[in-house]
Amino acid sequence: MSTSNAAPTALIVHAHPEPHSFSTAQMTTAAQALRDTGYRVDVLDLYSETWNPALAREEFAPIDGPFKPQAEQMRAVEDGTLDAAVRAHLDRLLAADLLVLSFPMWWFSLPAILKGWVDRVFVMGGTFGGDYGLFGDAALAGKRAMLLFTTGGSSQSFSPGGAFGSMDDFLFHIHRGMLEFVGYRVLEPVITYGPAHMTDQDRAAALETVRASIRSM
Ligand SMILES: Cc1cc2nc3c(=O)[nH]c(=O)nc-3n(C[C@H](O)[C@H](O)[C@H](O)COP(=O)(O)OP(=O)(O)OC[C@H]3O[C@@H](n4cnc5c(N)ncnc54)[C@H](O)[C@@H]3O)c2cc1C
Repeated sequence: MSTSNAAPTALIVHAHPEPHSFSTAQMTTAAQALRDTGYRVDVLDLYSETWNPALAREEFAPIDGPFKPQAEQMRAVEDGTLDAAVRAHLDRLLAADLLVLSFPMWWFSLPAILKGWVDRVFVMGGTFGGDYGLFGDAALAGKRAMLLFTTGGSSQSFSPGGAFGSMDDFLFHIHRGMLEFVGYRVLEPVITYGPAHMTDQDRAAALETVRASIRSM
C-alpha cells in the first residue's frame, strides 16, 4: 500500500466477454468492496476495450533484421516510442498499489486476451530488466497482486488427488512466472468454483464471500 496520505489505488484488469457473466458480477462486487475499504479503483475491461493481445513487430518502430520482442520493448522504453495503448496501460499499472487480475479460468490458465495483456504490458525495461532486476528488484516490488477468478470445476476436483489436481500447481506459472517475476507480493487468490452449477441463492452467497474476502485483505 502507498505510504503517502493519498488513497491507495487498485487496478482491476478484467477479462470476460459477457457483461452479465458471474465473473463480471464478481469483479464489480470486488471493486465495490475495495472502494469500501478506501481504495481508488481503476477498472480496465479488456473486452470492452477490444484489447489486441498479440505482441507483434507492428507495434514497434520499424526495424531492420529479425524481430526480437524483448529487445524492442527495451528500446521502445528507452526511446519513448512504446505503443500508445501499451504505454497508457503500463502507466496505470505502475500507478497502482494493488493489481487484481479478474477472469474465468480457461484451459487451466488465463483467457488469451489477458495473457496477451501481460505479454504486451509487462514490458521488459518497464517492469523488469534494464534499470530493474527480477523478483524483489523488479519495478513492482513493494506492491501487491491477486487473482480473482471463476472455474467450471468444483473445489474438490481441484484439490490434491482430485480429478484436475492441485489448484496451486496451476497457479504457479501466474503467481511466480508473471506476478512475482515483476516484483509483486502475491495475495491469496479469491476463487468461486463452478458458479454455473449453483443455485441463485448459492451464487448470491458466493458474491458475499467475495465481498468478505476482499474486505478482510
Ligand atoms: C475456453 C474455455 C476453457 C475453459 N477451461 C476450463 C478449465 O480449464 N478449468 C475449469 O474448471 N473450467 C474451464 N472452463 C469453464 C469456465 O471456467 C467457467 O465456465 C467459468 O469460470 C464460469 O464463470 P462465468 O462467469 O463464465 O459463469 P456464467 O456462466 O457467466 O455465470 C454462471 C451463472 O451465474 C449467473 N449470474 C450472473 N450474474 C450473476 C449475479 N450477479 N448474481 C447471481 N448470479 C449471476 C449467470 O446468469 C449464470 O447462470 C472453460 C471455459 C471455456 C470457455
